[in-house]
Amino acid sequence: MIWNEHKECMSREQMRELQGKRLHKLVDILYHNVPFYRKKLQDADISPDDILSIDDIVKLPFTTKQDLRDNYPFGLQACPQSEIIRIHASTGTTGNPTIVGYTRKDISIWSECMARALTSFGITKEDRVSVAYGYGLFTGGLGAHYGVENLGASVIPASTGSTEKHVKLIKDLGITGIACTPSYALYLTETMNKLGITKDDISLRVGAFGAEPWTDNMRHEIENNLGIKAYNIYGLSEIMGPSVSYECECQHGSHINEDHFYPEIIDPETLKPLPYGQQGELVFTTLTKEGMPLLRYRTRDLSILYDGQCECGRTNVRMGRIMGRSDDMLIIRGINVFPSQIESVLLSIPECAPHYQLIVDRVNNLDVLTVQVEMRQEYFVSGFDTLTPITTLENKLKDKLKSVLSISAKVQIKAPNTLTRSEGKSKLIIDNRKIE
Ligand code: ADP
Ligand code: ZN
Repeated sequence: MIWNEHKECMSREQMRELQGKRLHKLVDILYHNVPFYRKKLQDADISPDDILSIDDIVKLPFTTKQDLRDNYPFGLQACPQSEIIRIHASTGTTGNPTIVGYTRKDISIWSECMARALTSFGITKEDRVSVAYGYGLFTGGLGAHYGVENLGASVIPASTGSTEKHVKLIKDLGITGIACTPSYALYLTETMNKLGITKDDISLRVGAFGAEPWTDNMRHEIENNLGIKAYNIYGLSEIMGPSVSYECECQHGSHINEDHFYPEIIDPETLKPLPYGQQGELVFTTLTKEGMPLLRYRTRDLSILYDGQCECGRTNVRMGRIMGRSDDMLIIRGINVFPSQIESVLLSIPECAPHYQLIVDRVNNLDVLTVQVEMRQEYFVSGFDTLTPITTLENKLKDKLKSVLSISAKVQIKAPNTLTRSEGKSKLIIDNRKIE
């Protein structure tokens, strides 16, 4: 099913024409309303009239997270305060959080994009959907909430926390859809196990998972645990929130809502645009946003763009799974390592549970990566009594990690339920190295 056939299945020529018109208008607004952009454009000797088509986007300057921090809190707002009806803030572990203001039209477009995503996942008005992203400043909860309402399904604003109550509601209300982080889906399964509720006791059939990187192996894990079909949804608060892109039934990448968010892939070092099919840093321009529009925002997310018609009928460009954030990437003894690579290895081994943590230390000036992973309950009898000897398993994991990552890692197999759980975005990496 397709929510907005006109916008999701446009011809490429029509789409590029629409994008060009919108870009011209956007640059004009930014030039006249946002001193930060006016200066950037003047420094680059560009006036709004130089933007005649979407191809001219390469002339425009980039925007970084640092620019958002420098202009904290409202320096990049492009409309009068009276037009802003909602403000979100992203976590911001270092420095100022990022503040994003939305106009009524922004919220309405966001809900439209969310409805496109949910429809693509097969959710209809008949469904009951619980939203278990955190509600609050984080965009996940309210973003998904408005989308479910716009679609016309019933929304259950479960949020995170009170997971036992949530499980009871899933069962008693016959909830059929869920939107949450992949980590929360695992936590939900554990809570169900604790309560003695199995996937056959519930009616869940579809899940919208995002807000953190996850792999196909994790998808299979969640699908098996909950008896559902799991779809990927992507977004970031600076650009909008969840539903910048979403998978279709073909699950060959996620279609980008390109009429609103223009995607590019660049080489993060040279900043040169890369062709479709090559991996690099994702960059988005918000073509229609009124509250805080951004030109060529560098997401730090690493991905690939794919063009070409998809079997689902949508014509919008697709993006591959996020390989990791460029700042999430671990550099271990000079080699780039993404947590997603490690997750794939762990989940390809039947004895390993999907609960793990990566610890990096510097010992005698050398980086040491330790992978801690829990053993699955069914392989763990009690105490040190396990079906597969721990050392055999540790060696098997070490070998596999070595062949995938090209570096050696220490492996520690843990007893079930010993690593910390997360209901929101998970904290996978503990980096104890002192960066001087
Ligand atoms: P922050 O984490 O910086 O506070 P957000 O809460 O807006 O900001 O999170 C956005 C980020 O979350 C994205 O830039 C991306 O790194 C990650 N993310 C969101 N959805 C997905 C997804 N489906 N797959 C992988 N990563 C995702
Ligand atoms: Zn498709």
